Amino acid sequence: MSKNQLVKELIEALGQDNVITDQEDLVCYSFDATPDVPNPLPDVVVTPTSTEEIAKVVTIALKYKTPIYPRGSGTNLCGGTVPLKGGIVLSLLKMNKILEIDAENLVAVVQPGVIIQDLNDAVAPYGLIYPPDPGTVTTATMGGSVSECAGGLRGLKYGVTKHYVMGLEIVLADGKVARFGGKTVKNVTAYDLVKLFTGSEGTLGIITEITVKLIPAPESRAAMLASFTSLEDAGNAIKGIISSKVIPATLEIMDQVTIRTVENFAKVGLPTDAKAILLIEVDGVPEVVAREAEAVERVIAENNGKL
Ligand SMILES: Cc1cc2nc3c(=O)[nH]c(=O)nc-3n(C[C@H](O)[C@H](O)[C@H](O)COP(=O)(O)OP(=O)(O)OC[C@H]3O[C@@H](n4cnc5c(N)ncnc54)[C@H](O)[C@@H]3O)c2cc1C
Repeated sequence: MSKNQLVKELIEALGQDNVITDQEDLVCYSFDATPDVPNPLPDVVVTPTSTEEIAKVVTIALKYKTPIYPRGSGTNLCGGTVPLKGGIVLSLLKMNKILEIDAENLVAVVQPGVIIQDLNDAVAPYGLIYPPDPGTVTTATMGGSVSECAGGLRGLKYGVTKHYVMGLEIVLADGKVARFGGKTVKNVTAYDLVKLFTGSEGTLGIITEITVKLIPAPESRAAMLASFTSLEDAGNAIKGIISSKVIPATLEIMDQVTIRTVENFAKVGLPTDAKAILLIEVDGVPEVVAREAEAVERVIAENNGKL
């Protein structure tokens, strides 16, 4: 591969402003949130602004047989954006438009560089939410979280990203653009390629547009923190909550090591003497929230927990 020729063609395709080659800038694209992996520099970083530009990058990369690493915000924990074999890091951050909010059909269409929280802020005035809630909502992109099929705290009740992705536009490895799925719930004919690409970690193609399902925002919430003097009691409380037919929006267990580690870092006032804690949130219409919160409190008490 002639690196100079590759860069020249990328600049011709995208313009100088969308092609980064300065060493000090390349360093920023040599790592992501993953600890303990090598951090080699990419040969070049591109910041395309459209599907057509991404298709051009893929075609050029194919010609020079050079790898491409799609990159959202780089918050993944599996080294997915680290350019281990050199080549092109393709940042999606300039493709950050919310293309449509179709409140009547409970659907939004976004570019991959939209930050998850920005989508939620945009749909909030319509009384809607996009539920997937990885710990990185304020930084992670829609494209990155679809590629990781991110889950998060609300997974128990609301599911994970794959349960909300209805349609995708993809630039495939040969530079062709394909569209799968769409806004229609009953769009079920043939193979479910939307599911195949969701969670594919950038290995099958580059996601350039995403159609997602939205749901009505819960009217009210009740959050609880229960502490336990034994991990077993906390585990039994989880069993008790689920078997009393309550599906909390959040139900997270932390053992003592985790409690102390988090407290040491975040200083949020967690009970460091507890052997385990449960973080619980129930949500929905107020009457149901009140009933479910009461059921949770009862189960906590039955299992020697303290609220
Ligand atoms: C503190 C912290 C908390 C987290 N909490 C959770 C959690 O609770 N639940 C959970 O599931 N995950 C969690 N994560 C990981 C989470 O999956 C990522 O934060 C997020 O999904 C990745 O988004 P990103 O924009 O940073 O993507 P990146 O890290 O940039 O990319 C992720 C992967 O997707 C690929 N990719 C990015 N954009 C595209 C695209 N447009 N097309 C094709 N491939 C693409 C990349 O090549 C890479 O393989 C957490 C991470 C951190 C650091």
